[in-house]
Amino acid sequence: MQNSEIIWELVDAKRQPFEALSDRVWGMPEIAYTEYRSVGEHIAMLKEQGFRITENVAGIPTAVMGEAGEGGPVIAILGEYDALPGLSQEAGIAEPKPVEAGGHGHGCGHNMLGSAALLAATAVKDWLARTGRPGRVRYFGCPAEEGGAAKAFMVRAGAFDDVDVAISWHPASMTKVDDALSLANTRMDFQFTGRASHAAAAPHLGRSALDAVELMNVGVNYMREHMPSDARIHYAYLDAGGIAPNVVQASAKVRYAIRARDLAGMLELNERVKKIAEGAALMTETTVSISIMSAVSNMLGNTPLEDAMFKNIDRLGPVPFDAADKAYAAKIQATLGPADILNDYRKTGIAPRENTPLCDFVVPQGTRGVPMIGSTDVADVSWKVPTIQARVATHAIGTPGHSWQITAQGKAPAAHKGMVHAAKIMAATAVDVISDETLLARAKKDHQERVTRTPYVCPIPADVKPPIKPRPAAAA
Ligand SMILES: [Zn+2]
Repeated sequence: MQNSEIIWELVDAKRQPFEALSDRVWGMPEIAYTEYRSVGEHIAMLKEQGFRITENVAGIPTAVMGEAGEGGPVIAILGEYDALPGLSQEAGIAEPKPVEAGGHGHGCGHNMLGSAALLAATAVKDWLARTGRPGRVRYFGCPAEEGGAAKAFMVRAGAFDDVDVAISWHPASMTKVDDALSLANTRMDFQFTGRASHAAAAPHLGRSALDAVELMNVGVNYMREHMPSDARIHYAYLDAGGIAPNVVQASAKVRYAIRARDLAGMLELNERVKKIAEGAALMTETTVSISIMSAVSNMLGNTPLEDAMFKNIDRLGPVPFDAADKAYAAKIQATLGPADILNDYRKTGIAPRENTPLCDFVVPQGTRGVPMIGSTDVADVSWKVPTIQARVATHAIGTPGHSWQITAQGKAPAAHKGMVHAAKIMAATAVDVISDETLLARAKKDHQERVTRTPYVCPIPADVKPPIKPRPAAAA
């Protein structure tokens, strides 16, 4: 019997309570840094399974670490459980219908992400106990993936200093090894301060902070022509200076998200955007204060780990969806446009298939599509230690990210099958690393080569602390 078959049996033996955990977390959607109830559920499960628990990782009350095993290599399995604002949605239907109007929802599937990661860690713990092999597995419950960069703060605090390899996954429409493509991303706020005055009676005495923001945006929009084509810049007004057009706006605030293909490119772009802000302040005789809210790096791949994970995906095969799973996914697909579905194939790099509501195949290794990519804080872990992620089918092909359709599919039988499949892939890869010293050595060598080319700098300034939120009274 191969190691992978033993570990898959161990995953299957405990799937039911972890599917239930995923469903409970789905039912208590909490956004960045407020995941008190969700982390409470994960801590309770870690206790039940007999892990040694460290709460408050990196000073973040909604982060937790559970460890098992002795000696040997240290394998981190990363989980998440944060939800998204505005994506409240009833489960199991195929029309938009919020559980709570304007409420939060698991529109990125992190309820499954965390539960499958904890299931994988539990199976590895059980495998270590059964085989008596040296090795440690650590489950990291990581909050605030959505815009909160918690893992970057955790890396900065040293949470991964003695970890050998990190493994994670993300719910997806197709099953594959993750491409390890993500953009470095900074969220930066620009607070402009001017002088109020009567806009008709004394306009010459006013200095408009709103003008400054508008000029800054114009400047950045002109810069777009002269920046790398794969960089992305977006902005949102946090404060437009009030609702009175007859008062010169003394205060205005804009938040920028600045994304680039790599860390060094992003740091360069950040400085150019800052110069434009300073120019806008100079033009308008206002002042500007600039603060970084959060930042993450770009993802680094790891060829030996990608090969090892793909072997497990290939051996395990596609997620075993049945006719009922496909029928529900087809209803979800009916809510999408043909462009959504084609786009999914295009970015994956495979030819579109007819009558395939759910991924009943494995995307071959090395398939490269059109990179249409966002950002993730798993990337900062990937600069610290060799890191590998799977993407496993849990929802209909074509389902857009961060959508009501993901929330709707988040506790369907297909979601449960996908998360158990993901746990098997992660656990088997962890066991491979523990059992094969040469794999670990190759993974480390590959990582070393990537980070010596451009050494890691934490993209978050040293004085910026994680924006932790107080425990709400209801979660006390
Ligand atoms: Zn996500």
